[in-house]
Amino acid sequence: MEMDVKQMVAWFRHYADVLDDQKALLTELDAAIGDGDHGANMARGWRAVKEGLHEFSGNVGDSFMLVSKTLISKVGGASGPLYGTAFLRMGMAVKGKDAIELSDWPKLLQAASDGIAQRGKVSGGEKTMYDVWKPLSDGLMLRDDFEGEQSLVRWLAQTAAAKAEETKELRATKGRAAYLGERSVGHPDPGAVSTSLLFKSLQSTLAPD
Ligand SMILES: [Mg+2]
Repeated sequence: MEMDVKQMVAWFRHYADVLDDQKALLTELDAAIGDGDHGANMARGWRAVKEGLHEFSGNVGDSFMLVSKTLISKVGGASGPLYGTAFLRMGMAVKGKDAIELSDWPKLLQAASDGIAQRGKVSGGEKTMYDVWKPLSDGLMLRDDFEGEQSLVRWLAQTAAAKAEETKELRATKGRAAYLGERSVGHPDPGAVSTSLLFKSLQSTLAPD
């Protein structure tokens, strides 16, 4: 079982639509602890990804690269470079491949997670998107009991949602939210929430209930 490039494109298109629907929520979350631009930035960036996919022909590695380049050029603030790096590293991890096999997922998540850590200079617990990506990477390294893509993506979506929720309890020590100190507690990190939506979109694409 594997995920081919058509399914990748379907995932990215679906996520663009989800972001458009959830723009107000992400804006509200970012307004609480940041500058309130995360919803608009992500929706704009992924709308550009969706447009770029109209003329796309390439393999799965190329599809990650298209997302990376588009986000780096279209998404402002910290999110563009961080997501751009995550997709760049995932593209490098499956460079030249026509499909993502079940055994590729641990290295994909590790590549993304390591890229975010380096680019964002984070190590975990700072209340950033890394607090979702890192546990996904760590969790996949420990598990080899998934029966197929569907069970794997369900686990990714559930774990990402739980970890995004857990960022509520963290005190921000990176980015604009760090200026709020203790007052950042009680609000989830917007980048953690947009990451959880990415994996929820993956589940909706590959394993709809
Ligand atoms: Mg912002």
